[in-house]
Amino acid sequence: MKCFIFSVILFQFWCTSAFSKDSLNIINKKVSFGFAINPNRIVNAVIVHSTFNNSGGDKYDIDLVLKQFSTYGVSAHYVIGRDGKIYQLVDEKDNSYHAGKSRLPDGTTNVNSCSIGIELMTSYTESPTEQQLAALLILINQIKKRHPIKYVLRHSDIAPVRKTDPWNMNWDEFKNRLLDTKN
Ligand SMILES: [Zn+2]
Repeated sequence: MKCFIFSVILFQFWCTSAFSKDSLNIINKKVSFGFAINPNRIVNAVIVHSTFNNSGGDKYDIDLVLKQFSTYGVSAHYVIGRDGKIYQLVDEKDNSYHAGKSRLPDGTTNVNSCSIGIELMTSYTESPTEQQLAALLILINQIKKRHPIKYVLRHSDIAPVRKTDPWNMNWDEFKNRLLDTKN
């Protein structure tokens, strides 16, 4: 009997995880650097970035990217690989050090304290893949359900003098897709 109940629970779990709409498989890569606990945090912005490993070896290897982040003491909440895999580095309830000196359109300068940072693995010459864009769309739509998001911006929008990322991304097209998938 116990075994039967366990099987039913397991089946229900399998159903919800396999068939839930817009389900995302998020890979846990929580880091011990580049973030701060902030109990007063209210998230109202999503900032999209680009990154790759330029310290030798595979430029799109997640562990090498994290090693590089560790060297600089930076992070992001999420990194999306070329294949659309989503890695979570920092809990959404914590500040991640991704924005640096920057400014939101409403004048907020401590952007790390109110934003979620998402890194797309791209290089200076390559565009995001379709798998990355599809994963980014779903992830942002899910974040919007968890937080009162006012802005979805590029790093270059909030730090225009210092930053040019996300690189080689058709931002207007992406924003239109985001509007189309809004529910
Ligand atoms: Zn950036």
